[in-house]
Amino acid sequence: MTNNQQLFDSARRLMPGGVNSPVRAFGSVGGTPVSMVSGEGPYLTDAEGKQYVDLVGSWGPALLGHSHPTVIEAVHRAVDAGLGFGTSHPSETQLAELVRERVPGAQMIRMVSTGTEATMTAVRLARGATGKNIVVKFAGCYHGHSDGLLAAAGSGVATLGLPGSAGVTDAQASETVVIEYNDRAALEAVFAEHGASIAAVITEATPANMGVVPPDPGFNAFIRELTQRHGALMIFDEVMTGFRITEAGYWGASGREEGWTPDLFTFGKVIGGGLPTAAVAGREEVMAHLSPTGPVYHAGTLSGNPVAMAAGVATLQNASADVYAHIDKTAQVVANALTAALTDAGVDHSIQKVGSLFSVAFGTSAEGVANYSQAQAQQSFRYGPFFHAMLEAGVYLPPSVFEAWFLSAAHDDAAVEQIIAALPAAAKAAAEAE
Ligand SMILES: *Cc1c(COP(=O)(O)O)cnc(C)c1O
Repeated sequence: MTNNQQLFDSARRLMPGGVNSPVRAFGSVGGTPVSMVSGEGPYLTDAEGKQYVDLVGSWGPALLGHSHPTVIEAVHRAVDAGLGFGTSHPSETQLAELVRERVPGAQMIRMVSTGTEATMTAVRLARGATGKNIVVKFAGCYHGHSDGLLAAAGSGVATLGLPGSAGVTDAQASETVVIEYNDRAALEAVFAEHGASIAAVITEATPANMGVVPPDPGFNAFIRELTQRHGALMIFDEVMTGFRITEAGYWGASGREEGWTPDLFTFGKVIGGGLPTAAVAGREEVMAHLSPTGPVYHAGTLSGNPVAMAAGVATLQNASADVYAHIDKTAQVVANALTAALTDAGVDHSIQKVGSLFSVAFGTSAEGVANYSQAQAQQSFRYGPFFHAMLEAGVYLPPSVFEAWFLSAAHDDAAVEQIIAALPAAAKAAAEAE
């Protein structure tokens, strides 16, 4: 017999922390991680046979719900044709076309295997294309775990980044300047001081890895304007938001309406439909610097893997306007119920929401959360008891207050009712937390 505790004990003997990605270890909420063995629609089932309504969605890819029949069928067909050839094949062009139809600024595309690889490649490409070294990022924005992009500490104007991880050298971190999100004055000051050496500003399209933090109106357009003026590139990291917030990602709700386009986009999560695919894309003139047409090296044994391409193609083909409308509406219903339950229990909070992506922050009702300092200052101790009350009631939330909640096209009335029914007891647990 296996239960979650036994499985985790075995895992811990073989893998650091018992996991292959740290947040899965339940470090910030405590308790034993749940081992999932299957997923269907809005549900996951664990090794003990308990079913949960899933609000993690594999951290984003499951836009259509788990095991969507059309996606599974497309993957089966691809598998039957062979797992990979290490050559060109038709479905990589098909996926690239689907991306460009939705996001015309993605003039050329390079498929890679993870979001980390996409942003790492985008940064190298920006440096190679501009001949400049410094990359500006915002505190609390997560762009994967490549060395230079782990610099997250450091605040104030033009503070040279401190390594955000052991094993990242000062030299690597020192070429990343970290400033607070939504801080126009700091961004202006960085350009005033380092303008001639800045290769790129990289930003999450809308931050969702410090909890969801909406950009102030015009903030992304301001980044676009400053980078353009100084000959730096704008890297719009849509690994989480791409093909999720709208059919054209967060760009579809911002740049498309406001009339601007970043130089480079990075995509991940939804684009692979649950299999390991991501992409860097953008202006043809910049993308042409990538090998083999240009001098900026990038390669990948599994890049454009046909099974992953099949999952991505099937997912995007099925991500219709109805899918986005359903997810938007459902997210609003759940967010409304969440805030009502917390308010009834007397828990001070803010719902952090951009389109269908949202998270909760505690003790932040006065101003909400606009940057990383405010995200870190919240009463995060309230989340663990809240999370475990939901888990007990069969609702699987992200095991960290700093992660967004993901809905899918498969979250129907029954799933939503189960979430709503679980909220009052969880809100009470949050109220009693200390
Ligand atoms: C998840 C994420 C990444 C990293 O993607 P991986 O596939 O986990 O390497 C990068 N940027 C953003 C905005 C993300 O949400």
